[in-house]
Amino acid sequence: MAIVKPVIGRTIKRKFSSFGGKKTPFIAGHKLLYTCNLRCEMCPFWRRPDEKLLSLNDEIKIMDALVAADVSFMGFEGGEPLLRNDLPDILKESHKRFHTSLVTNGWLLKSKIKSISNYLDYLFVSLDGLEEIHDSQRGIQGSFKRAVEGIKEAKKYVPVSISTTITEKNMDSISDLLDFTKSIDVGVNLQISYNYSTAGKISPDKEKLHELLIKLKEMKRSGYPIVNSYEYFDAVINSWYYNVPWVCKPWSTVNIDPLGNIVMPCYVLNEYSGKYKVWDVDIKKLWNSYDWSIYESCNNCSLTCYLEPSLFSWKKPAMVHERIINSIGDYISSMF
Ligand code: SF4
Ligand code: SF4
Repeated sequence: MAIVKPVIGRTIKRKFSSFGGKKTPFIAGHKLLYTCNLRCEMCPFWRRPDEKLLSLNDEIKIMDALVAADVSFMGFEGGEPLLRNDLPDILKESHKRFHTSLVTNGWLLKSKIKSISNYLDYLFVSLDGLEEIHDSQRGIQGSFKRAVEGIKEAKKYVPVSISTTITEKNMDSISDLLDFTKSIDVGVNLQISYNYSTAGKISPDKEKLHELLIKLKEMKRSGYPIVNSYEYFDAVINSWYYNVPWVCKPWSTVNIDPLGNIVMPCYVLNEYSGKYKVWDVDIKKLWNSYDWSIYESCNNCSLTCYLEPSLFSWKKPAMVHERIINSIGDYISSMF
């Protein structure tokens, strides 16, 4: 299994102290850019025209605002973050403040991992299937080979898991991918594709997905390295097939767009369009004056970055043990 550094100390203490009745985001997700070197069908981000990169100083301003809001976990994503030449500097600053993770498509990973690994607690690499399916879904030939080479190299330096988007194209071959990931000894975080208005509509068929969700839960139980919690599968199954909703708490995660805007209530409903610059607002005040209650029964998506934190309960000892005592870093990082 990949190296897993224990996550104790400053960041976790801050997480514990931020629970107490008031709403506080304890996880941040930040898109560093929309530009990407791949062309995934289901992705709205590489198609966006409104990109303008922030400077390192602005990135630090974002981080300091998040520290003031008691955020403990920072997940960087894109677009493709490894396209930014200042990524090592950004990660270095983040690592001083947060438990830091990164999502990459892996194309540039082999050559760049050494420049970033010292500043990362966890790394996620997107892989949607074996070679033919992955390259087709990701839109660029060779992307599977590059990602796998990157994963093998990165594992030498930092804990790595795979992030897989389930679509109508790959849903019949997810178990082949899981066999492969088991063979290279990396965990898998599964996301169900969401049909954004500006991207290809390739979400899986709901009835077929039902069978797959049950199967994935069984595969996790039989030892496949699936990072999603059992509660995640139960929540999606109960909500989508038995009309028993889970309570969404989108306030647990604050998302920041490439321009430094806070994306509220979640990036699914407003498709990554932010209103307030993160450094111009008091996040704690904003969080506790916003009416989040109307989103509690939304259940529109099943994105792990929102669903997994929403399911967490301090009143469930098994969950506290699995996610906090054993591997909170592993768990939180898996959401991006
Ligand atoms: S690799 Fe990620 S950011 Fe790039 S096109 Fe695919 S889903 Fe979008
Ligand atoms: S269920 Fe998904 S779309 Fe709905 S509020 Fe929660 S995170 Fe947003």
